[in-house]
Amino acid sequence: MACSASACQSNCYKTQQEEEEDVKDNNNTNSFAANISSSNNNNSNSGLCLKCKANKPISSNSDGGDDARFCIDCFRGNLFGKFRFAVNSNAMIAPTDNVLVAFSGGPSSRVALQFVHEMHSKAQKNFDACRDRSLPVFGVGVAFVDESSVYSVPSNETDKVIGDVRLIVENLAPPSKELYIVPIESVYSSDSGDGRVRLKKLLDAVSDATGREDLLLHLRMLALQKVASQNGYNRLLLGSCVSRIACHVLSATVKGQGYSLPADVQYVDARWEIPVVLPLRDCLAKELTMLCRLDGLKTVELIRSPCTGINGLVSSFVTLLQEENPSRECTIMRTAGKLIPFHFNKIEEIDDSNVLLATRRRQKRYNLKSNESFSSESFCFICNSPLSRSDLLSLKNLESHKTSSVCCSSCQFQILPQDPSSVNELYTLLPEQLFARAKHDNLDHYSALREQIQDCLLSEGEDET
Ligand SMILES: [Zn+2]
Ligand SMILES: [Zn+2]
Repeated sequence: MACSASACQSNCYKTQQEEEEDVKDNNNTNSFAANISSSNNNNSNSGLCLKCKANKPISSNSDGGDDARFCIDCFRGNLFGKFRFAVNSNAMIAPTDNVLVAFSGGPSSRVALQFVHEMHSKAQKNFDACRDRSLPVFGVGVAFVDESSVYSVPSNETDKVIGDVRLIVENLAPPSKELYIVPIESVYSSDSGDGRVRLKKLLDAVSDATGREDLLLHLRMLALQKVASQNGYNRLLLGSCVSRIACHVLSATVKGQGYSLPADVQYVDARWEIPVVLPLRDCLAKELTMLCRLDGLKTVELIRSPCTGINGLVSSFVTLLQEENPSRECTIMRTAGKLIPFHFNKIEEIDDSNVLLATRRRQKRYNLKSNESFSSESFCFICNSPLSRSDLLSLKNLESHKTSSVCCSSCQFQILPQDPSSVNELYTLLPEQLFARAKHDNLDHYSALREQIQDCLLSEGEDET
């Protein structure tokens, strides 16, 4: 039997009450952070950390940043508190889970890796201290997507980056974590010829700079999903932070992805074979970079070109907004957060006797109710966005299209060539996995959907007007 918190002194798992206190604590921390600017003036005079009121703040500059308000411990505690709250209240990681952390080498995913590692170490300590070791400790692995083939980087530079990534993962305290170096061209099956050449041809076939970047982003996710699935992971953890998501909100708006946007801004995204979780959704890029600096967390220079096109424009626009008012990114995120999420924006409820009752209860309480979410059964075969009715109606005749190759309007405009003959050529360059996934996702729902929109479809020979 599992040891219950009341009987075991090793604090293996917290009681329901303690969990609630934790959550309350954290809410206080969050609202505390939000209210700081108003109380800043009163407290700055004392020259002490606003939270503990005992230690000196990290720095004495007067730009109103976190380093001027918090001491190191409170700053770190506040950030970890946001992470832990996101993980716990969305049931992101259960004791039986196997979590793959996507590590790009940048500050956000470096902090994500560190926090998961700390959580893992603590769970392991509790496990070791507990006499009855019936409860498992979740597993952790790390994946790094090597995109050097896309950017034609000299091999010695790539080797250095990969060496640095290895060092970072090896230097985390034991137990050691499996590291997967995933070449981006691994999205192609090994028997489909030279993946590097095919990938290069594919990207060259997309003339729009924004489309190329977006396609690469989708391929990166495909590569991560593949490595997670092949190695027995059941969660993919990304380091996406507020700043990153705020940029996505604006660029998605510009690209006409309004319908699918709510799916991308939640803590959990289970439309994928391996559900994706975003525990740093409430942290700012600036905070995460600062933590890396303060704690000496080594990061790696990314092998990526700077964004161009819509993504680049939006990113510099958000940076400008943020300079003018440091809460802009959070405001964008909160606004988008009001959109109704989809049914897949939650972890399926666990029905496993291994999982503690407290975890299950917590899950029930914080998870979305079905009447508070949208359901969508068809997905874009390129980017996996849920498709709206109008996306489907825009296909003049549903049956003339292969059911596995229906795509959203954004992919249609940004990625697919305008000339129909080039479209077919591009299709031959796309990874087979995309078509397989779409077939699996869409096929069952297609006939039902066709029936649903029957009246709006044009029959053979019927004119559009
Ligand atoms: Zn403090
Ligand atoms: Zn799409």
